[in-house]
Amino acid sequence: MQFAAGQLTNALGIQTACHLEHCVECQRKVAMYERLGGELLDFSAPVAVSDSIKQRILDRIHNPDATQQTDAPHINADPRIPRPLQRFVPDYYEHLPWQGFSKSIQSYDLPFSDDRYAARFYNIAAGKDRPQHTHKGNEYTLVMSGSFSDLSGDYHPGDFVLADTSTHHQPRAHDKEDCICFAVMDAPLKLTGFFGRLLNPFIN
Ligand SMILES: [Zn+2]
Repeated sequence: MQFAAGQLTNALGIQTACHLEHCVECQRKVAMYERLGGELLDFSAPVAVSDSIKQRILDRIHNPDATQQTDAPHINADPRIPRPLQRFVPDYYEHLPWQGFSKSIQSYDLPFSDDRYAARFYNIAAGKDRPQHTHKGNEYTLVMSGSFSDLSGDYHPGDFVLADTSTHHQPRAHDKEDCICFAVMDAPLKLTGFFGRLLNPFIN
């Protein structure tokens, strides 16, 4: 509902748009909320706006293509990257400047983190797991490539997973290929395993 109303922050809005590319069920819900928003206009009290704002709105209505052009994919974008993300990711997954403590788990910071949410990609190497961890806040994960499982199930491209303070998990990438996820989190991870105690000082 917040996505349809344009009320999500950049990071969550972009992540939701990526999920919507493949999820027919959520596409239907967003369409319903947009219709509802349209209906509400009939009941809203009119507000006076300046001539320039009015002109800009009319221009957009008459020429919708002009606003869509700003979403044009980056020319070198990886076709595997969901369209709403393409202009923020400069290169193919393999060529991004991944950072991490080991080859088994690496991350790439996305340029639209804000005060509340950090946005990054995670690459979990095939057959490896992320350190066991719990969360101080919410973590929204969208699987983009490969797949992983944890105690709650198997996750594949397009799947959307919400972890919160009650979640203790250790996502493990499946054996055949690396798993790349797009994660948005509103607080740093808190690692719980043995390695977690060693690594926590570095991630907080
Ligand atoms: Zn969905």
